[in-house]
Amino acid sequence: MTPVLKAAWTAQAFYGSSECLQVFGGHGYVREWGIEQIVRDSRVGMIYEGTNEIQAIDLLVRKVMPDCGAGLFAMLLALCDGLDNRVPGHAEFLAQVAELRHITGALVQAARTDQELPYWVADDYLRAAALALLAWAWLQISGASNALTSSANPARWAEPANAMHCWILPEFDMRLKIIKARL
Ligand SMILES: Cc1cc2nc3c(=O)[nH]c(=O)nc-3n(C[C@H](O)[C@H](O)[C@H](O)COP(=O)(O)OP(=O)(O)OC[C@H]3O[C@@H](n4cnc5c(N)ncnc54)[C@H](O)[C@@H]3O)c2cc1C
Repeated sequence: MTPVLKAAWTAQAFYGSSECLQVFGGHGYVREWGIEQIVRDSRVGMIYEGTNEIQAIDLLVRKVMPDCGAGLFAMLLALCDGLDNRVPGHAEFLAQVAELRHITGALVQAARTDQELPYWVADDYLRAAALALLAWAWLQISGASNALTSSANPARWAEPANAMHCWILPEFDMRLKIIKARL
């Protein structure tokens, strides 16, 4: 989990703060509001404490491939176990875990003849793993929020859920396509 969390959330911090700057338009780009300093400060998180590319290599080459993904998938299957299958997105999450498992096997196999391959795809692999974990986290949030908001404020979670499913989680498919293209 360490390389996934370090790389995924430092990238999110930078891209998220950059989107915040965008909301200010040209005024965000100048110093007055302070948002440009936050963008710059958040950028270094992707570089120090192990650059995100090195984190991705650590995940795939040092942690996942040596046991053919056994440790990673033991954890993911344990996460699948506790889920409420009535929550929207449940089937999609199980499909993502299955796809990740399949691609991990294919990568281990292909790396026997192409030793550079894991280094080419490590960033995409880490991002796909992070998105699968985010889908899982979102299932927890959706399950809890259904119970909490059904009477008080039914719209409270509808927009974040929509944004997650429309713009964030579909990146998983893109990352897998990029990896498959190199196999
Ligand atoms: C503000 C700041 C504070 C810091 N504080 C400390 C500190 O207190 N203590 C300390 O020890 N260090 C510190 N550092 C150093 C920091 O850890 C390094 O900058 C970081 O590890 C990256 O090393 P590098 O700058 O030499 O980049 P390089 O290793 O030259 O990497 C350049 C780029 O190439 C990529 N890259 C390199 N090798 C590969 C590869 N095999 N595959 C794919 N991509 C690759 C990297 O991801 C990076 O994007 C600090 C850096 C900054 C900017």
